[in-house]
Amino acid sequence: MVAEVIVDISTSEIDRVFDYDTGILQVHIGHRVLVPFGRKLIEGFVIKLKNTSTFSGKLKPIDSIIDKYEVITPEMLELMDYMTHKYNLRKIDVLRLFIPSQLRGGKVKELVKNYVTLNTEIDFSSMVESLSTRAKKQKECLEYLNENGGEFQQELNKMFSANAVNTLAVRNYLVIEPVKVDRKPNVIRAENDKKVLTPLQQNAVDKILEDDKIKLLYGVTGSGKTEVYLHSMEEILKQGKTAIMLVPEIALTPQMSKLVTARFGELVAILHSGLSAGERFDEWERILLGKARVVIGARSAIFAPIQNLGLIIIDEEHDGSYISESNPRYDTKDIAIFRAEYNKCPLVLGSATPSIDSFLRAKHGKYTLIRMAERVNQRKLPEMQIVDMVRAVKEKDSKIFSKVLIDELRQTIQNGNQAMIFINRRGFSSFVMCRDCGYIAKCSDCDISLTYHKEENVLKCHYCGKKYKMPDKCPHCGSENIRMGKIGTETVVKELERIFPGVKMLRMDNDTTSTKDSHQKILQAFRNGEAQILVGTQMIAKGHDFPNVTLVGILDADSSLYFSDYRSTERTFQLITQVAGRAGRADKEGKVVVQTYAPKHYVFWYAKENDYDGFFEKENNARKLTHFPPYTTIIRVMITSIVEDKAIEITQQIFNEISNIKKDFEDRFVYLQAMKSPVNRMQSRYRYQVLLRIKKKNDQEIIDEIYKVVNKYNKEKGCWIFVENNPQSLI
Ligand code: ADP
Ligand code: ZN
Ligand code: ZN
Repeated sequence: MVAEVIVDISTSEIDRVFDYDTGILQVHIGHRVLVPFGRKLIEGFVIKLKNTSTFSGKLKPIDSIIDKYEVITPEMLELMDYMTHKYNLRKIDVLRLFIPSQLRGGKVKELVKNYVTLNTEIDFSSMVESLSTRAKKQKECLEYLNENGGEFQQELNKMFSANAVNTLAVRNYLVIEPVKVDRKPNVIRAENDKKVLTPLQQNAVDKILEDDKIKLLYGVTGSGKTEVYLHSMEEILKQGKTAIMLVPEIALTPQMSKLVTARFGELVAILHSGLSAGERFDEWERILLGKARVVIGARSAIFAPIQNLGLIIIDEEHDGSYISESNPRYDTKDIAIFRAEYNKCPLVLGSATPSIDSFLRAKHGKYTLIRMAERVNQRKLPEMQIVDMVRAVKEKDSKIFSKVLIDELRQTIQNGNQAMIFINRRGFSSFVMCRDCGYIAKCSDCDISLTYHKEENVLKCHYCGKKYKMPDKCPHCGSENIRMGKIGTETVVKELERIFPGVKMLRMDNDTTSTKDSHQKILQAFRNGEAQILVGTQMIAKGHDFPNVTLVGILDADSSLYFSDYRSTERTFQLITQVAGRAGRADKEGKVVVQTYAPKHYVFWYAKENDYDGFFEKENNARKLTHFPPYTTIIRVMITSIVEDKAIEITQQIFNEISNIKKDFEDRFVYLQAMKSPVNRMQSRYRYQVLLRIKKKNDQEIIDEIYKVVNKYNKEKGCWIFVENNPQSLI
């Protein structure tokens, strides 16, 4: 037989299939194998078997099969084809996503431990009698094994001393065998607190399982989406099938893992970036071998080798972390849709603030919309107050806090409740704002906030490349109080300690959560009531359920509006709604105070009224008018090189070729330009880009043409070129 093998080397020239002779080996599709390549043996993946090869020379034989099983399932091989075409990726880069990285090069091994049982060929009582009366430990050890059937040698050594165990072994009283042990990620143990569903929740579960369409579950914060996910998964498991549930980034995983594990126990596998290599490998293997039937994890868990899939859930579907921004670039939703179609199973996208893209699809009937417009048990959504920071009465000596927020905080503390202070840091350092009138520097062509670039001391528009001089006075009111601002969590905590001496605070940001588990510890401490105020950045925005939190304060709520991104309004709406949703989740009513320099912006009005539908209409119209996604697709071709002239030359050539493509698709191009990238140099490579926007309908047709051009130039030595499809940021 002849095997088609993809070898594990990533250079473009080698990303093709090589034929090998299987010889006497029982090679299967999906096996990882060692093959001779050049003068070395390297790892590769078998993707096809056939009888003959078109290769004219003599085929080299496969050296050996690496694992006991096939590591790539047939479904994942099809997914590889889909991804390589859709995103212009190398096959090997995609395959690497499908297995734990430490599996490559044999860097992770199965954990094997010695397990001890009694030698059944010798009568138990005669064993005991043969021991000297002084050998108490040995006697206890035998009795323990007799009662419990067996134990790991390591444990026995601890309990009865290694000496005693060894002596018994020498006497041939024990049978010691190596067994494989699964390393398990740490999960907080919890009671299985299964709830009786409300009619709204039951309706959602029924709709989800009704057919294999894609469902958009739009449920306000506190509407009980988690319980809907858990019940749906339970049904799917009863049908003998399996499920994947994705949550954004590591922040949410411990919380969700706890709930899911309490409900499904041993059937659950957890995949996230906090696992050790050994844990990750063992979880992956349990999934592949069908021992785990529920997978919960962050983005990359969508590649879990689970079979017989009956349901995929993406919680917080609007979250940006579902898009991979570095090679290999992909959108988790595309992968989920592929897998759901392959397995003919439903896919659920859940959110309290669906992305404009998903909601539009639901409106067009591509997704089934399921609404849960009320909180569980009719709990009220928190009341929101918008504070205009240009006019607000500031708290005495405080540049940060309005009097309104301080009064509310005081009230909360007096009542023995808890508060969260959220600092909106997204994009904060880079835009320019007048602190007296709220003026924001924007691009006159694109109406998108400009970003400050320190090296050149200019403001730039990331969407058209236009440059502006950095103003020294506000063009609107003449104030010199125009600058880039940034308040840190530390400053905020200090200020609060000054205003509320003796009140306990906790702080959560990148600095306080750098060590493993620290994130979880802070949340746990807050939950236990060890502090009355939690101050934090984006990390405290999502998913947490603290029953005693009755007040949420949002500082610089508008800062995310000025991020140079066409989605900045959408992101701001999502952030405010998510953070506000932390308040008043139990039986106490909640209140939210939003501090902003742009109180008139429509985003605050819709957020205050909790009017997602209204916000969607407004934002959707704006996107349509300005030709931004979801009505268009933004493509960025990034050309990088250590030699600047080379980058410029190639950029010009690619631009010319794409201009030619444009002639064939004239009416479908909305924008096409070549320019320096906003960050012109990164990791000592110069960056130039061709930026284009094309109409959404049948966009892949044009994208494929662009890939062809890029692949032609990618062979040029010294240049590294890649294509981004609706990039999350344009730096
Ligand atoms: P969401 O994710 O939609 O914001 P959660 O799933 O966190 O909401 O649920 C909010 C709260 O309501 C949680 O404390 C949860 O335990 C509780 N809850 C959910 N469903 C029910 C139910 N059917 N009966 C009682 N309490 C429920
Ligand atoms: Zn001003
Ligand atoms: Zn512009």
